[in-house]
Amino acid sequence: MRLASKVALITGAAHGMGEAMARLFAREGAKVILADILEAEGRQVTAAINGAGGHALYLSLDVQDEAQWVAVMGEIQQRYGRLDIVVNNAGISGAVPDRLDVAYFDKLTAVNLRGTFLGVKYAIESMKKTGGGSIVNFSSISGLIGQEFVHMGYNAAKAGIHVLTKSAAVQFGRDGIRVNSVHPGMMPPMRTSVTAADPAVRARALAAVPLGRAGTAEEAAYAALFLASDEASYITGAEIIVDGGYTAA
Ligand code: NAD
Repeated sequence: MRLASKVALITGAAHGMGEAMARLFAREGAKVILADILEAEGRQVTAAINGAGGHALYLSLDVQDEAQWVAVMGEIQQRYGRLDIVVNNAGISGAVPDRLDVAYFDKLTAVNLRGTFLGVKYAIESMKKTGGGSIVNFSSISGLIGQEFVHMGYNAAKAGIHVLTKSAAVQFGRDGIRVNSVHPGMMPPMRTSVTAADPAVRARALAAVPLGRAGTAEEAAYAALFLASDEASYITGAEIIVDGGYTAA
């Protein structure tokens, strides 16, 4: 198994790509901690993983809130004594009708960028004590290019995650900590997405994908699995784009 004996924390694991990663990582032998604000859904996925013979634990976490990170890390330390993998995946969508709304800019950067920074900070503090680990941050193609239907606060947050990842890789490589980013393209719409779920907008964006279709949550999960595993032991500060060729066109 590709993650045998690893302890992995995945934020935003109650739904979408986070859920797909929780199920996949557990199948690959990891003890998986699912952290989310959606308690009922998160506990349901956790129960399904445990029912299938995996090891999963649900913990409530709003990634914007530093006090909640402290509580979650304390609980993980007490239960497992180590943390090998952190996937900062929780996020809210920038596909909203009012692309110039200032309050939404603040919300997008608070959840997506500040939330990721806090995840990186607490991952580093824990991994330093045990000789290293792997951090995988979920950016987006929106962190690389602009798109007509995306609030620029989302682009700014995802671009911030892209280079924050490189910065953390440079600063903590000597602690044995690898930090990489995954950049999904057209995937199933996020729970918080409005315009990307609109069939006309979606059809236009999908027409520009060289592989001719949307990606699946599992296809993004496999990229994160590789980066999280020891197979990627000499890879840090890098990005994997999972977009069917969209940004290559
Ligand atoms: P999703 O909406 O299906 O799932 C996101 C999860 O994050 C949900 O379970 C949600 O409850 C959780 N979450 C939201 N805010 C949170 C908070 N403050 N604290 C803790 N958990 C919180 O979205 P998804 O499609 O699975 O997206 C996962 C990641 O991939 C996100 O970072 C997203 O920005 C990114 N992404 C998505 C797409 C796409 O098209 N779906 C494309 C590129 C990048």
